[in-house]
Amino acid sequence: MSIASNLLQIKSSLPAHVTLVAVSKTKPVADLMEAYNAGQRIFGENKIQEMTEKWEQMPKDIEWHMIGHVQTNKVKYMAPYVSLVHGVDSQKLLAEINKQAKKHNRVINCLLQIHIAEEETKFGMDQQELEALLQSEEFRQMENIRVKGLMGMATFTDDEAQIRKEFLYLKSIFDNLKLQPETANFKPVTLSMGMSGDYTIAIECGSNMVRIGSSIFGSR
Ligand SMILES: *Cc1c(COP(=O)(O)O)cnc(C)c1O
Repeated sequence: MSIASNLLQIKSSLPAHVTLVAVSKTKPVADLMEAYNAGQRIFGENKIQEMTEKWEQMPKDIEWHMIGHVQTNKVKYMAPYVSLVHGVDSQKLLAEINKQAKKHNRVINCLLQIHIAEEETKFGMDQQELEALLQSEEFRQMENIRVKGLMGMATFTDDEAQIRKEFLYLKSIFDNLKLQPETANFKPVTLSMGMSGDYTIAIECGSNMVRIGSSIFGSR
């Protein structure tokens, strides 16, 4: 199977309201170009340096999504061009994205990452940290970021019931968030959950953005 045919097959299987992020981390530009030529315009990377190198080399109508854990000292390298940062897991990081976006006269879209998995190693905030962030005066004054929704990763397991439970938990937090009034920097519309192994479950649980790598580009 080629990258283009994998991509088109997955795309045609997704409901219309679900956005596909093609996760191209570790893959060479030639592979990304194959997906690009098959029509893909949204790519996800998990390392800022690698994403920046690809951004420099590739057509400029691509939306670049940072899906990995972000170190505050590297935000400046992606601030000129990144279109959505999925893994924002602290107020400090959001403040740094705001600061760097301001330098470039931009508003950077962000998703807040919520910890839903059993594993300790997966990053993310809990519900209380999320509430504290959104209610803080510092957040209210951030004019160069926009919180567009939430992102989460389920436990890496074969236990479908476990995965479903975690995704439904994130969906409930998202639904709750949507009840809060929108402001200039708070417009929750995106729920990013689901990867190659679990995206069909994620969509059943209310995901509207899936991040798929190995099923498109092959194993890493
Ligand atoms: C690598 C990665 C993915 C894609 O994983 P696949 O299993 O290859 O689809 C999705 N989300 C995040 C955060 C990742 O790091």
